[in-house]
Amino acid sequence: MAADLVAFDDVLATYDPALGLEVHVELNTSTKMFCGCPAVFGGEPNAQVCPTCLGLPGAMPVVNRKAVESAIRIGLALNCSIAEWCRFARKNYFYPDMPKNFQTSQYDEPIAFDGWMDVEVDGGVVRVEIERAHMEEDTGKSLHVGGATGRIHGADYSLVDYNRAGIPLIEIVTRPIQGAGARAPEIARAYVAQLRDLIVALGVSEARMDQGNLRADVNLSLAPKGSDRLGTRTETKNVNSFRSVERAVRYEMQRHAAVLGTGATILQETRHWHEDTGVTTSGREKSDADDYRYFPEPDLVPVAPSREWVDELRGTLPENPTVKRTRLQADWGFTDLEMRDTVGAGAFGLVEATVAEGCPPQAARKWWLTELARRANESGVDIADLGVSPAQVAAVQALVDDGTVNDKLARQVFDGLLAGEGTPEEIVAARGLAIVSDEGALGAAVDAAIAANPDVAQKIRDGKHAAAGALIGAVMKEMRGQADAGRVRELVLERLA
Ligand code: ZN
Ligand code: MN
Repeated sequence: MAADLVAFDDVLATYDPALGLEVHVELNTSTKMFCGCPAVFGGEPNAQVCPTCLGLPGAMPVVNRKAVESAIRIGLALNCSIAEWCRFARKNYFYPDMPKNFQTSQYDEPIAFDGWMDVEVDGGVVRVEIERAHMEEDTGKSLHVGGATGRIHGADYSLVDYNRAGIPLIEIVTRPIQGAGARAPEIARAYVAQLRDLIVALGVSEARMDQGNLRADVNLSLAPKGSDRLGTRTETKNVNSFRSVERAVRYEMQRHAAVLGTGATILQETRHWHEDTGVTTSGREKSDADDYRYFPEPDLVPVAPSREWVDELRGTLPENPTVKRTRLQADWGFTDLEMRDTVGAGAFGLVEATVAEGCPPQAARKWWLTELARRANESGVDIADLGVSPAQVAAVQALVDDGTVNDKLARQVFDGLLAGEGTPEEIVAARGLAIVSDEGALGAAVDAAIAANPDVAQKIRDGKHAAAGALIGAVMKEMRGQADAGRVRELVLERLA
């Protein structure tokens, strides 16, 4: 299945990559974009539908004001101009999960346009230009049953759930990012990660990539080195983690170069990303915009946000992310490297939230960047999607701070959290993880260790206190790591004084 690839460094010797990102953000409004159906995740299939979102004849849509508000706030946060007047448009194409056979979207009149976001990559800043952010509705969800891959090919039958049809989406489209060279994969990842942080700070979406609240399409093309023209692009759809965004860009760069190297041309098409094998495969040939036969939506009035409203919304924006990062780095006492690693791991917002729950900053950083990052990596998800909350991390650290558990035992508490065994306190109780500092129990274990290691005991009596480590180790082993090591050391030295 894997295509021929050119080594990454060789790609850059011959070509310049151009990168573009289209990110769909599912808003967390309580109702859908054009009807009053609940917009919550996970209901019974086809229970959250009505004539409007099913596209039944005669049903009339009405625009969700809260969704427009969120769109404007996203646009402002991305330094966009906000349209004084804009319309929805019908994007016509047939797809079974789209009951109207058109998607109500925006075409040449997006609500927000001409913005930018400064993306921090490896300590430097890359300005990514935002072409537009427009409003549209989500489709339903198809489930293909019986095939090996979960795709329609080879399936026995398909089911469709329209609960998601009509949920408000904001699509954020960058201008082509050129001149990135070898940093293209990294920039793509950093952009999506920073955009997610911004969306979270705005509070307009759950922004979970694993649940499809935030979906990234990655456009990539190669042009001969030094040429300022753009090559033919491919669009890799719905890449569902930051790491996969980076991998997909890298892969497409290597694949494009291989195709171009044989003298063939790149087909303008959508591609599927395969998380497990790390490759993309061909999807459908990508239509030009003309093929969608866009025309203004006749059933909706134009959206004309007043300047007063836009200014009012400008006042609700979160602190500028760059300013905020500088401020928090000072508050937390992080070195530049610590900060860079935190941002690079997509953990900045998580550390911030964990500190807000009362956790010391260095401890918050340590847990997210080591223990939790490792587990997320093993499960192939972003740490934000791992299923451990900042409040839980703070609670675990509180147990370390009050001496209930040590760092090693805390890792088992995280095992329990991921297994859904309850709160950190409940897990400590149920798994019997609390450190033993009871004098009687510790004393008995120390006496047993001394009796079992007479040579070591004699060394300590002779003043070689460094030898105590062996006895402490024996006690810790005996007590399955659950002894207070400092207290054990004191007891050993007391007894052998
Ligand atoms: Zn509805
Ligand atoms: Mn779209």
